[in-house]
Order: sequence, then structure tokens, then C-alpha cells
Amino acid sequence: KETLDQGLEKTKENIFSRLTRAVAGKSSVDDDVLDQLEEILVTSDVGVDTTLKIIERIEKRVARDKYVGTDELTRILREEIAELLTENNSADMAEFTVPDSQKPYVIMVVGVNGVGKTTTIGKLAYQFKQNGLSVYLGAADTFRAAAVEQLDIWGKRVGVPVIKQKMGADPASVAFDTLSSAKANGADVVIIDTAGRLHNKVNLMNELTKIKNVMSKVVPGTPNEVLLVLDGSTGQNAFEQAKQFTAATEVTALAITKLDGTAKGGVVIGISDQFKIPVKYIGLGEGMEDLQVFRRKEFVDSLFG
Ligand code: GDP
Repeated sequence: KETLDQGLEKTKENIFSRLTRAVAGKSSVDDDVLDQLEEILVTSDVGVDTTLKIIERIEKRVARDKYVGTDELTRILREEIAELLTENNSADMAEFTVPDSQKPYVIMVVGVNGVGKTTTIGKLAYQFKQNGLSVYLGAADTFRAAAVEQLDIWGKRVGVPVIKQKMGADPASVAFDTLSSAKANGADVVIIDTAGRLHNKVNLMNELTKIKNVMSKVVPGTPNEVLLVLDGSTGQNAFEQAKQFTAATEVTALAITKLDGTAKGGVVIGISDQFKIPVKYIGLGEGMEDLQVFRRKEFVDSLFG
């Protein structure tokens, strides 16, 4: 199991260690230091808009306090970044429960192919099950045989049922079956995989709306969560996908995967700031346990620790 510190090592090197080198031998934060900081943040995939916002805030502090020592810069940067990260108010995995009257709790998972959607669903199912909750998975990505197979493999690995239909079946019908079975069996959690085709916006919107409507008919108030999975190692592509999916449906939470092994972890800061949707989970590896509930303080501590 990867720890957060291990997982974020490369991103930390890319931001904190470069910053430390950039200010070596300098006593105060001047224009040159700020230029270098800007370059560091942009090349760490924080995104131009969020980077400029951070630089502007630090400039204001420098102007106000007349003198800011480079030794203070890390602390200030840490504070500014923590403030830009949307707080995730959801419970820790171990504390998550579903009251009888609200069963099943339904998570609809969206995102393009290859970002780690199936793996994230498998990891979630595993962790919910570890905590004593019963889980049903729904294979509503009916456009790719591989997607259904992959979900099936995860279902077997974790030991939870996977509801599926034939290739090309109506995704909303799979969602209907899954929620019906889960409801009939008193399951706690349902996780529905959806197709990750970013065809045109209207189609995507219609498809997701149809699935959501069916869900709310079987279990009023669902889906409880629309979780968008983004691949953190793709940097600016993740931004673009966030833009398209948030335009097509109401995304309530984000999962950012593959932060292990990438130096582009700054994308978490930019996406959180630009979209104001809480990052709920982060993926730190391929194993079942390599998914953590995101906490902004822990994240910032790991980046600058
Ligand atoms: P999907 O097409 O979106 O369902 O993507 P998959 O779940 O099949 O994942 C694609 C690849 O990314 C697989 O090889 C996964 O093992 C890998 N993967 C998923 N999440 C992570 C992660 O957090 N870290 C790493 N290193 N690999 C991941």
C-alpha cells in the first residue's frame, strides 16, 4: 500500500524541491523568485489561471509586509494552496455508513476510458466491503466488451455481484436492473460504471440524464453521488475532461488517479480551484488499497513536508 508521501514524491520534487533550489542564496521574495515560482507551478500542471492567482496573492503579501523572507515562502505557499483546495467534507471510508431508510447509496461513475474508472470502482467496492457494507456493481458501459469483462474481474476479486447485460444493451436498463437487485437484497452501496465516450456534449448529456432518471425512479433521491474520474498523470487533458463532463452533468465529486509516479500532481490544485468540486478520492497505485479519501491538509503536508 502506497502512502500519500510516497505517492506524491515526484510532484513534491517538482514543486517543493525546485522551489528550494530556486530560492537558494536569496534572502527575500523578489520578482525573480516570483517568476521562478510561476514557472514551477505552471510546469507542475497547476494550470495558468490558478498559478496566476497564487502569484498574485503572494505579491499582495509581499507588498503589504514590504519584506518576505524566502524562508517564509514555503509556509505562505502552503497556506495559499490549502485555501484554493476545496475541502472534502465526506466521512472517512471506515466511518461511512448507510442508514436503512437510505439504502442503497448510489454512486454513478463517469469519465473517459483509460483514466482508471474500473480500477477506482474496484478499489471502492473493496474498501466498502472491508468495512462491512454490501456492494452491487452495475456494468452500464455496454459499448465495450472489455469494460464489462474488467468490471467482472474486479467483482470476482473483491467478491461482490456485478449486474450486466449483453453488449450494446441500453445503459439505463443495466442501471435499472442493478438498482432493483440491490434494493431487493437490501444492499448498502451501488456503484454504476458508465460509458466513457466523449462524443458530442448533447449525446453525453442525454445518456447520463437518462441513466440518472431511471435511478431516481427505482430509488428516489439517487444517484447520491456523481463521481468523475480523472487521470492525474495527463495534466491538462484532465482539465479538458473536467470541463466537458461538468458541462454535461452535475458532477458532485472527483477522483484523481495515478498520482503515484507522476510529477503532474499539481493538477489536483488547479482542478479543485477551477471547478470548485471537492476531490473526494485520490488513486496512488494499482492495488485494491491504493485509493485514499482526499484531505487537503494531508495533501499539502505531503507536498511540502
Ligand atoms: P478505465 O478504462 O478508465 O476503466 O481504466 P482502468 O481502470 O482499466 O485503468 C487503466 C490502467 O490504469 C490500468 O492498468 C490500471 O491498473 C491503471 N490504474 C488505475 N488507477 C491507477 C492508479 O491510481 N495508479 C496507477 N499507477 N495506475 C492506475
